[in-house]
Amino acid sequence: MPIVFDNRFARKFPEITTRQPIKPDGEVSLRWLNSQLWAELTKGETPPAELSQWLGGLESWPGTEPVAQKYAGHQFGHFNPYLGDGRGLLLGQAVVGEKITDIHIKGAGPTPYSRGADGRAVLRSSIRELLASEALHALTIPTTRALALISTQGKIQRERVEPGAMLARTATTHVRFGHFEHCFHRGLEDTMHNLWQDTIEVTWPHLADADIAEQFSQVVKSTADMIAAWQAYGFIHGVMNTDNMSLAGETFDFGPYAFLDNYQPEKIFNHTDAGGRYGLLQQPGVGLWNLQRLAQAVSPLIESDKLRAALDTYEPELREAYLNRMTKRLGMSSVPANERMQLVGGWLSLLEVNQADYQLAFRDLIDSLEAREPKGLLAQSGESWWQEYNKAVNGKTDIDVMKRVNPWVIVRTHHAQRVIDAAEAGDDSLLNDYMQALMNPFAESLRESVWAKPPTAEEQVSELSCSS
Ligand code: AMP
Ligand code: MG
Ligand code: MG
Repeated sequence: MPIVFDNRFARKFPEITTRQPIKPDGEVSLRWLNSQLWAELTKGETPPAELSQWLGGLESWPGTEPVAQKYAGHQFGHFNPYLGDGRGLLLGQAVVGEKITDIHIKGAGPTPYSRGADGRAVLRSSIRELLASEALHALTIPTTRALALISTQGKIQRERVEPGAMLARTATTHVRFGHFEHCFHRGLEDTMHNLWQDTIEVTWPHLADADIAEQFSQVVKSTADMIAAWQAYGFIHGVMNTDNMSLAGETFDFGPYAFLDNYQPEKIFNHTDAGGRYGLLQQPGVGLWNLQRLAQAVSPLIESDKLRAALDTYEPELREAYLNRMTKRLGMSSVPANERMQLVGGWLSLLEVNQADYQLAFRDLIDSLEAREPKGLLAQSGESWWQEYNKAVNGKTDIDVMKRVNPWVIVRTHHAQRVIDAAEAGDDSLLNDYMQALMNPFAESLRESVWAKPPTAEEQVSELSCSS
């Protein structure tokens, strides 16, 4: 079955969209396709030969009605009313059964919201988004998905001249907190109300008829759950501006993100973030700050005491969701909650003191449990935590769960860079191989894989460019 489109966003919200086709940047070629996602969208149909022409804008994709979306947002704490899709286009909404999925393409050429920039995306950042979105998905962290990577013949000026690309992604919705900030700023109350209702219908159909304050509470909960999961896996988004916050609570707009290698929770990766606003430990607080901006924007729709009550649920929800994730990672569901929190604290101190690798340390714990004696980090200097842990779990650990939630492979900046260098030279074999590992990161066969290896001291990348 070809993809069936019902482009409700373009149809319902002409006042906050601009219709325009993809503007190709020369010849295009399909470099990577998410065949699993394609199969879900098409109920198993093989991709048509025209797909790269469609995604590259050389032919229009039947059924799509591309639009650039207008929004605003707070960037690094400051309101910016001039935002919008400056290089992305929403192609339309794919309908599969009851489920509605946005298909969007990034790097599609300049739009009225480009603010003088080129409307393009580089291969480097497109590959980085591809890697992270599928890696997060495999870790069951809500995220937009990568559907396809197209390279173009464009040569793009960033810090250097780089090959161009386009990334097709899917999301439950591309409606951001910033959409509501735009409506608030411009006094578009009817649009705001309709957009809220439509986004809830698409994202949580079971809440379509619920009280709007209850719907807002769901946004708070989903945001808290997403950020809790980031914290549990050491994922640093890097640019948590409100235009990069999806109403659906999906990880959205990947820029200078990083997963922690060795456990350095204070580290800031984004080199334009001099104030350290978006480090790992800042994320929970920034999530709440962003929700407060959203609450202010939707204040014409929801009474302030109800907004406040919903915001008050954020911190307990985040703590609980974080503890649930860490309970699984540490295999300790048999332990009472207060003791579990203590074990997490001790675990993180142990990692920090030893500068241990944040991902592989969990695997050391699994190895230790299987060997019934401390291995790796736990043998080196974790004896007292290991004893405390064993006393608490008292032989009742969830090793099978641990193996399903503790990845061998995550996105590591040095691996990503190697993949990008090869792809820029026309060789996609590393990209394909890394993607396969990231999409199935718990496989025991990855234990000895090169992709499981943390960086050596020379390989460590300490700063990431924000340019994309
Ligand atoms: P981002 O940092 O990717 O979330 O982008 C922030 C804003 O800048 C959004 O409105 C983007 O659409 C816009 N933008 C980023 N890069 C470009 C570009 N190369 N050309 C046009 N607009 C861009
Ligand atoms: Mg953005
Ligand atoms: Mg963007």
